[in-house]
This record gives sequence, C-alpha cells and structure tokens, in this order.
Amino acid sequence: MGDTPWQDLTADIVGCRACPRLVAWREQVACEKRRAYRNWDYWGRPVPGFGDPAARLLVVGLAPGAHGSNRTGRMFTGDSSGDTLYAVLYRTGFASQPTSQHRDDGLTLTAAFITAVVRCAPPGNRPTAEEIATCQPFLSRELALMPHGRVVVALGQVAFDGCLRLLHNLGYDLPRLKFKHGLHHPFASSSPGRLRHLIASYHPSRQNTQTGRLTSAMLDEIFALARSLLEA
Ligand code: SF4
Repeated sequence: MGDTPWQDLTADIVGCRACPRLVAWREQVACEKRRAYRNWDYWGRPVPGFGDPAARLLVVGLAPGAHGSNRTGRMFTGDSSGDTLYAVLYRTGFASQPTSQHRDDGLTLTAAFITAVVRCAPPGNRPTAEEIATCQPFLSRELALMPHGRVVVALGQVAFDGCLRLLHNLGYDLPRLKFKHGLHHPFASSSPGRLRHLIASYHPSRQNTQTGRLTSAMLDEIFALARSLLEA
C-alpha cells in the first residue's frame, strides 16, 4: 500500500498483468527495442496517467505506443503522437513546455490529466474489446480521484467509445452518440457525476497528422473549446 490513493492506484496499474496478450507484447517490444532506441532501458510495463490531480480537463487516448510511452513510461511521451499533443497543450496553456521527451524532462501539466483506455501497448495499436473492458476500472478509479474534472477530450474512436461505456456505467444518461471529430456533448446538470462536457477529436497519430486528416489548427480548436468550457 502507498501513502495516498494515487500511489495505490499507480502501483496497481504498473503491476498489472491481467491481459496475457498485452503483457507478452509490451515485454517483447521492451526486450527487442527499436534500433534508434537500443540504448534505452524500456519501461515495458503498464503506463499510469500523467498530470495534475486537480485537473479539470481529462484527455483520454487509446493506449501506449510501443516505442513511445512503452519506452519512456509516461503517457504520450516519446513519439510523434505525443509531440503533436503536448504542442497543442502548450499552446492552449495546459502544459509547461511544448515537448515531451522522457519522464524526467520537467514537463508539468496544469488543470489537465492525460490517460488512456488501455495501459499496455497493444500489437498494431489494436486492443481487443475484452482488453479494453479489463482495463476500464483503472480509468474509473482515476476519475473518482479527480473531484474537479469537468471536461473530457477523447482522442480517437476507440477512446471515445471507451469513455461512453465508462460514463454509461457510472450512470450518465447518454443519447446514442457517434464518433465525429469536433463533437461536443454537454451532460445534463442532473448527471450523477461531476463531468459536464465530452468532446471528440481525431487521435493525433502520425497517420492522421501526416495525411492532413488532423491539422494543428483543428487540434487548437478542440483544446480552445475545452478551455472556454472550463472558464465559462
Ligand atoms: S491493459 Fe490494463 S488491464 Fe490489461 S494488463 Fe495492461 S494495465 Fe492490466
């Protein structure tokens, strides 16, 4: 047991081996490594959420990148998705610096917390429905520890659907929502939880940014909307 519920949660996440396929993959990747990172001591374990425990904005991604956060041990750190995400968080005032290279680089988040629906790197970035369901209690526990959480930004369809399932399980009354970049769903003030807004965005993956499907301007709009909702 740690001294705080956050330490307990982090220990539970980092020590989890509930999904055999993902445990095998994350450890295989950490052992084999990518040539460019052969001198790195890969993290190779589940990745806990990162950010401000007093967060009002919750950013939910898919899963650790095999050579990104599975290497560095911090959410969205060390790959192109993270480069894109932290740059926009910096521009919109949530991050202390625009880059995220390793977990001791001094980066801090203010009023924001970054997490994911799955904590272990999945082969092909594709977790199964069962793996997502198995990992959901960790996201639920993070939410329970963030009394100021108001706005959720879900990055990509899988994260969006995972958030919908979790919110449904928590008793939020949700209409049938389909993923669409820029979707903004306000929750009724009578909702059982503290969250008030759900926003959907394309995932900042290299595939989306290099093809122009997701531009910096589009991401800026998402996080500027989140900012304006927090300040309303
Ligand atoms: S994905 Fe989640 S539930 Fe599955 S092994 Fe990793 S931390 Fe545990």
